[in-house]
Amino acid sequence: VKALQLERHGGGPVLASPPDPVPTAGEVVVGVEYCAVAVGELLVSSGARQEYHGTADSFTYPHTPGFQGVGRIVSAGPGVSAERVGERVTINGVLGCGECAECRRAAENRCERHALLGLDSRHAGCMAEYVSVPERNAHTWPDQLSPTLAPFVSELATMVHAVRRIDCGPGDDLAVVGAGQTGLFGVASGRIAGVSQVISVDIDPERLELARGFGADHTVDARSADPVDAVHELTGEGVSRVIEVVGSTETVGQAIRMLAPRGVAALVGTGTGIVFDLPDYERIVTREISLRGCLGKTNREYAIALSWIADGKVDLGLLPLEVYPLERFEDAWQAAEEPGSPRIVIEIGQAA
Ligand SMILES: [Zn+2]
Repeated sequence: VKALQLERHGGGPVLASPPDPVPTAGEVVVGVEYCAVAVGELLVSSGARQEYHGTADSFTYPHTPGFQGVGRIVSAGPGVSAERVGERVTINGVLGCGECAECRRAAENRCERHALLGLDSRHAGCMAEYVSVPERNAHTWPDQLSPTLAPFVSELATMVHAVRRIDCGPGDDLAVVGAGQTGLFGVASGRIAGVSQVISVDIDPERLELARGFGADHTVDARSADPVDAVHELTGEGVSRVIEVVGSTETVGQAIRMLAPRGVAALVGTGTGIVFDLPDYERIVTREISLRGCLGKTNREYAIALSWIADGKVDLGLLPLEVYPLERFEDAWQAAEEPGSPRIVIEIGQAA
C-alpha cells in the first residue's frame, strides 16, 4: 500500500510502501479516503514528543502516523459482521484494549494499555491507503456529509468529554480559554449542554469571531484586556465552569482565577513544564475550586459528537479547511505547521 511514514525521530514524512494490514479478530480494515494532519503528528515529526500522552512506548521507526482518518470498510476480521463492509466510517483514534477494568466501565480513554492510532508505534495510523482498527472505533459517517469534515469529530468529542467531566449545564456560566479548533468546539459543546452564557478567550480576533459563530455570548481578546478581569466584569464573582485547552502556566493560572467559589475547571491543554503559582494554590483551597483532568474521549462520546454533527447542532462549515492531494504531502505538512493554519486534510485514497 501507499503510505506516509516517519523514518526517524524529528523527521518529516516520506512516501513509503508498507505491507497491507490484515484484520485480526474484532477489527476492520478501512480504505482511507482522507486523513487530517493533527497536532499530535506534528509534535512527533518535529521531535517535540518521544512518546505521546502516556502511551506505553517511545516510537520505533518507520512509523505510519495519522490519528484522524475517514474511509470505507473494505474487509472485516473474525467476529465482525460482513454487513459493515462498504460503510463509510470516521475513526476514533483512542484505542482501548476492550478488556481491562477501565475499558469494561466504558472509560477506554484511560485504558490500562492506552494506545493512540498513529501516535503510538503499536498501531500504524491512517496516513495509508489501508488501516486496521477495532470495529468499535469505526463510527458510521453519514453519506450526506462531506467526508473531508470527518476529522473534526475527534476534537468535538474531546469537548463532549470535557463538558461531561465538569457537569456543565443550565445555570452555569462557562469560560473557554483558547479558541483553536478544540476551544471553538468547547464553546459549541457548552451551548448544546445548555449553559446560561459562554465566554471565549483568545489572543486572535479572527478566532474570537469564529467563537461567536459557535455560540459565544462574549469574547475576550487577551491581548487587549486582562482576561481574568474581563471575565469578572462580565460575571461578577467569576464563572462556575471553565475549560482550559491551551496548556500553559499563564493560561492555566488565568483559568483558575476566572472561577467563582466552588467553580470547576476542565484541564484539557497538555503543555509541558506547567507550574502552579502559590497564590493560585491558595485560591484553589480557600475558594474550594475543583480541577478535573480530561483525557481524550470514549467511543460513547465520539458517537455523541457525531450525532451533534449529523443533527446540524454544530456547523462544521464555519471552519477553514484545506484539502491536499497525497502527492503534495510536504506542502500539507508545512501548511499545518503554520500557527493559526486552517485544518489541513490529505486525500489519501480515491473518494468513492
Ligand atoms: Zn483497556
